Amino acid sequence: MNAPLFHGSLAVIGAGTMGIGIAQLAAAAGHPVKLFDISQPAAVRALETLGQRLRRRVEAGKAQRGDAERLLANISIAASLEQLADCGLVIEAVAEKREIKQSLFRDLEAICAHDTLFASNTSSLSITAIASVLRHPQRMAGMHFFNPAPLMKLVEIVAGLDTDATTLRRLDALARHWGKQPVQCRSTPGFIVNRVARPFYAETLRALEEQIADVATLDAAMRDAGGFAMGPLQLTDLIGQDVNFAVTQSVFQAFFHDDRFRPSLLQQERVSAGHLGRKSGRGFYRYDDESLNPAARYAEPVGAASLPRVTLHGDWTSLPELAALLQENAGAVKQPGQTSPFATVDEVTFMLTNGKTASQMAQQLGTPVVLFDLSANYRRAPTLVLACASQNRPQDSAKVIHLLQTLGKRVIELPDYPGLLVMRTVAMLVNEALDVVNKGVASAADTDNAMLFGVNYPRGPLAWGAALGWSQILTTLENLHRCYLEPRYRPMPLLRHRATQYAALPSGEHR
Ligand code: NAD
Repeated sequence: MNAPLFHGSLAVIGAGTMGIGIAQLAAAAGHPVKLFDISQPAAVRALETLGQRLRRRVEAGKAQRGDAERLLANISIAASLEQLADCGLVIEAVAEKREIKQSLFRDLEAICAHDTLFASNTSSLSITAIASVLRHPQRMAGMHFFNPAPLMKLVEIVAGLDTDATTLRRLDALARHWGKQPVQCRSTPGFIVNRVARPFYAETLRALEEQIADVATLDAAMRDAGGFAMGPLQLTDLIGQDVNFAVTQSVFQAFFHDDRFRPSLLQQERVSAGHLGRKSGRGFYRYDDESLNPAARYAEPVGAASLPRVTLHGDWTSLPELAALLQENAGAVKQPGQTSPFATVDEVTFMLTNGKTASQMAQQLGTPVVLFDLSANYRRAPTLVLACASQNRPQDSAKVIHLLQTLGKRVIELPDYPGLLVMRTVAMLVNEALDVVNKGVASAADTDNAMLFGVNYPRGPLAWGAALGWSQILTTLENLHRCYLEPRYRPMPLLRHRATQYAALPSGEHR
């Protein structure tokens, strides 16, 4: 850092889960930190707990004693707000109530210098609204850390309507100096991550509600086939069903009840029952007695005399790994063409789901059809998800299942569900990410980085959409929209625009 990004000490207000993590981060970077909590005993306890944690890390050989001691020596507890007068930056992580945060910053403005930077770690409140009580709202921005703050790379730097560019630049530089990945966004409900991530939970909750499969099978589809680090149901159990439901509700309300963000009745029932996840011993899974949890259901091994003849038709550039896998291990031959990619496995059409059911596609094409679901990496994924047309003879579907098992994949056969699970989820993530870009909430690069570093998605949604082809995403959503007749699946204007702009593919018979 050349010029100091702020003068004097740094204040962290609120010594809860987030506050103490942010204090640790700042102190580790060498800043003198003043920690203030409305309950001084809470601040003392938080600092003691941090000390114990650091000592355990030193004992385990994971940290140097000198570093841990310097870090702790950098943090002092402030007994009153007045003691924060010399602070050049205040980061607030108090209770998530607009009135509390507004009153706090109003008091701080009277105590701190006119050029002290104010940052709020709010997850869901409007930065514009919090800053509106200040005489100098241009000095205030959101600095949204993720839990646990010392470990998670992402920080959303959130601009309120009146935040000036210098404030944003300084907070961005500070986050980088702390080894974080900052992204810039405008103050809109859910910022980037909590908005774009909603369909990740919602689509699996919907599939569960529609009884497509049990919790373990749905999670396995998203995790082991899709490439996400955790299944949505196990992740909501970890986050807490109540916390996840509250975020969804808050985003839904803040978007004036837009159907895209509609909360799940099924999740509400879990919350009402007190099945909150790991913390209550029971959520979608049991933690009090793990033997009660179902195992994911895979297709039984299919024995067959010989491998079928596999031909890859059309343009497979959007699915290069799967094409290579089928060529290298199943002797697939290519018949290049202009249509979207599909394979024939003897006489069975094998293609990526496009939002229509396999049975609809079989009727349209006049052949047996097996659809496969999307994967972030077909080569690495241990599992593939399929749906078979109801018109198929059992041996038609068995041929494809056998082929994939020969490639070393476990197979999940879902009922004939439009868009399957990963494809419909990713299509919705891409759609939402494009809306974020279209409305100027964040840049494309920041939107992808937010999802990569904030929630560890295997690919940024926009990079994923571009690689797969915008027209594949558009077709999937249009077909889902036709199926459900709900505004939830409506394609965003920027998606239509990109599909028209970039699509090399004509709308062929496989759409
Ligand atoms: P927490 O309940 O663990 O801690 C809040 C602390 O603030 C408590 O110690 C409380 O005594 C103190 N406090 C309350 N009112 C105060 C006031 N007026 N002045 C000083 N101290 C006050 O909460 P948390 O989970 O750390 O969340 C804090 C903020 O961070 C919230 O705005 C939350 O939305 C946001 N956030 C939380 C997470 C998360 O995963 N927990 C992630 C990102 C952002």
